[in-house]
Amino acid sequence: MLKSKALQEQVKEIELLIRYAVEEGEQAIALEFLQTFQSDPFGLDVLREFYRTLPEAREEALLKISVLEQKEQVYLLLLSTSNHHYFYLANNEEGLFLGDWEKGLSNSQILSFFDYQDEEAFAKRHPTLEAGREYIAQERIDEDICPSCGVEVGSLHTLGCPVEVCPWCDGQLNHCNCRFEQLGVEELTDEKMLEQLEERLDSKGRIPYAREQRPSFLSE
Ligand SMILES: [Zn+2]
Ligand SMILES: [Zn+2]
Repeated sequence: MLKSKALQEQVKEIELLIRYAVEEGEQAIALEFLQTFQSDPFGLDVLREFYRTLPEAREEALLKISVLEQKEQVYLLLLSTSNHHYFYLANNEEGLFLGDWEKGLSNSQILSFFDYQDEEAFAKRHPTLEAGREYIAQERIDEDICPSCGVEVGSLHTLGCPVEVCPWCDGQLNHCNCRFEQLGVEELTDEKMLEQLEERLDSKGRIPYAREQRPSFLSE
């Protein structure tokens, strides 16, 4: 992909921030992570803010960006280093650090924006760090790519992708009950069942990724 000059400049700026803010042992990995976002303005903004306002100057590399909530172009992200995880709220214009994962999310305005009654409801929905999904570079600008499993328009999702539409009921394939009903089981317990399901799906005809499937809110 052709990179615009503005993006190149931004990458350079972040490289400098990394050299200044991150301890030597983690610089290589920080720079490598930066490279995955070199064509993604949103991702670059997040990285720049992270290194510019690095909470309490812990000198760690940012290793993962997860999406916890997503609504009306507002993202609630979790920014992870090897030892710490920070809540970060971002839209296309700006970002805001909301504190450490361990302390939970207590800002009632933000909780209610994402339709949570209170802090406990949020914690229940996000019991572990793995409850979010990984932010994929360019997902905000490239609608031709499934935001969850990364396949292109017209291709089949990776089996298990939460965006895949069920060919039997038009629901969410990994949420509806069709997969159990089709196999006549209560749950899918082994590899063999998955293979059977895949066969069933293939003969029914799986629904490939299309732009309309882009969710406004991915919960799992
Ligand atoms: Zn997918
Ligand atoms: Zn179904």
